[in-house]
Amino acid sequence: MTDLVFATNNKHKLFEAQTKIGDKFRIISLADLNFNEEIEETSDTIEGNAKIKAEIIYNRFGMNSFADDTGLEVEALNNAPGVYSARYAGENATFSDNCNKLLHEMQGMTNRNARFRTAIYLILNGQHYLFEGMVHGKITETAFGNGGFGYDPIFMPDGYDKTFAELPLEIKNSISHRGKALEKLCDFLESHK
Ligand code: IMP
Repeated sequence: MTDLVFATNNKHKLFEAQTKIGDKFRIISLADLNFNEEIEETSDTIEGNAKIKAEIIYNRFGMNSFADDTGLEVEALNNAPGVYSARYAGENATFSDNCNKLLHEMQGMTNRNARFRTAIYLILNGQHYLFEGMVHGKITETAFGNGGFGYDPIFMPDGYDKTFAELPLEIKNSISHRGKALEKLCDFLESHK
């Protein structure tokens, strides 16, 4: 099996990646590499942040690696919080702080359209590749469900009457922004074996 570093410490993301491509590639996490440094996401785009993370690991360990970055883009808020989704309610904001802030900002708004957008940046044998995945949906009026993470309790994907936090993980993975980007990554890796 080919080793591939997923430059993340987020166990939810690791689990999603394992579920999606773990039967074909051995996914190595930052914890597996004993890499504990905080990687600063200083870019103003999700593509740029994914690149920063993948490059640091590729340059340090010389291992094929990929990283992702995701933004929640809300139509009525001019695509905010976008690249700042993790820090929307402040530097040390929790997932629930961010959800509460977004619900507060959107009080009374009828246009609830939003989308998650994920960029995956892959460095494979020195070559750089970018993959994108997107899912469209709506921001709910209140939070529903306990699954997932981040904005999952307030994001209802189009075609479903449940939030990502209420849907089984297999369903979320099959339609989500990261799921789609991972699928593109997986197809690409399959054809470059
Ligand atoms: P990250 O930089 O890729 O970790 O994503 C930035 C922020 O977007 C995270 O802190 C989460 O709040 C949110 N986010 C990313 N992926 C998801 C998801 O699958 N569901 C809900 N929120 C997410």
